[in-house]
Amino acid sequence: MSWLFPNYSRKDFEIIKGNGCKVYDQNNQEYLDLTSGIGVTNLGHNHPELKKALLQQINNIWHMPNLYHSEIQEQVACKLANQKDYVAFFCNSGTEANEAAIKLAKKATGRNKIISFWQSFHGRTFGSMSVTGQANIQAGFGLMLQDVAYFPFNEIDELKEALDEKVAAVIVELIQGESGIHVAYQGWIKELAHLCQQNGTLLIVDEVQTGIGRCGSLFVYEQYGITPDIITSAKALANGLPVGAMLANKKYANAFSPGSHGSTFGGNKLALSVANQVLDYVQSAEIVENVKMRSQQFFDGLAHIQSNKLIDIRGKGLMIGIELTDEYVLQHVMLQLEKEGVLTLKAGKNVLRLLPPLTISQEEVDFALDKIAKVLVG
Ligand SMILES: *Cc1c(COP(=O)(O)O)cnc(C)c1O
Repeated sequence: MSWLFPNYSRKDFEIIKGNGCKVYDQNNQEYLDLTSGIGVTNLGHNHPELKKALLQQINNIWHMPNLYHSEIQEQVACKLANQKDYVAFFCNSGTEANEAAIKLAKKATGRNKIISFWQSFHGRTFGSMSVTGQANIQAGFGLMLQDVAYFPFNEIDELKEALDEKVAAVIVELIQGESGIHVAYQGWIKELAHLCQQNGTLLIVDEVQTGIGRCGSLFVYEQYGITPDIITSAKALANGLPVGAMLANKKYANAFSPGSHGSTFGGNKLALSVANQVLDYVQSAEIVENVKMRSQQFFDGLAHIQSNKLIDIRGKGLMIGIELTDEYVLQHVMLQLEKEGVLTLKAGKNVLRLLPPLTISQEEVDFALDKIAKVLVG
């Protein structure tokens, strides 16, 4: 018997070691990791410089409350703002970053209503779950947050009617990750941002999965020509240590005063010592260039695969979705890839999701493409 809740369906093997893009199970079987632990270990496993930063911090001090100046938080916040007018609040996960965003938007506007989109995913706590536009995620948990309305992703007509001066915030993923790698159209996002601005509604962009270099820039919003009021980040921010962040335009900073919001572990020194390094490496010319080249290599390679199991290929940078005919085909494909030594993820019902480390090499992408082609064609 297991001592754990059965809320995950787990493989019966365990990954016990990792190095770069390779991971190893208890029998020393090697796998190419195209999951990055669901978009977390963006700089690969066992990164020597990240390890060094962490060990240095371990030897100094682990934790102090948010009642003292924190130089490491200031540094990470400054890097996240990326020369724009953002201030940061640190927490420990994506869902907490979104909770903070919802709270800030309500307090800053004095309004209640939140607009979200069908098939979105924003997290598992009550606020974030309430703005997640998927009935199956909310089922059985009683009353959700009041005054949340959901609209079709990438469609503007109904939104034009609904987005008025009663709406505190719109929360959106620019690429819907969990539900199947659905990429927002730039024209739609620009129009949405404009509608928000007209109505004094805050635009919250959830970059928990798309951020930290995943799509070819620190945050993917930079490629859309918009300036969100609020950005949420987590997953890859500390390459595997738990940290989340909510960034908001500094004109909303004073909506949170001492006592308004908090988190005991938020901004923890161990996690932030790694985040501080992550933000340097992930924006280095070497990584940015590699994401561009390897992304092109993936999309070119995938486009050449002739298979009747393949419906669509979507994504940006190294956030890639391969839509297959149905969930059974997907299950089979993932299992075959695992047997071939390649770990992948699922998104939605029938989408094979690839989130490789941003450090993946040309040879490793060739290997992955070779195996994907073998499994899809065979
Ligand atoms: C994973 C994810 C979350 C939730 O993050 P947790 O750290 O699991 O709470 C929220 N939003 C998006 C877009 C995500 O991909």
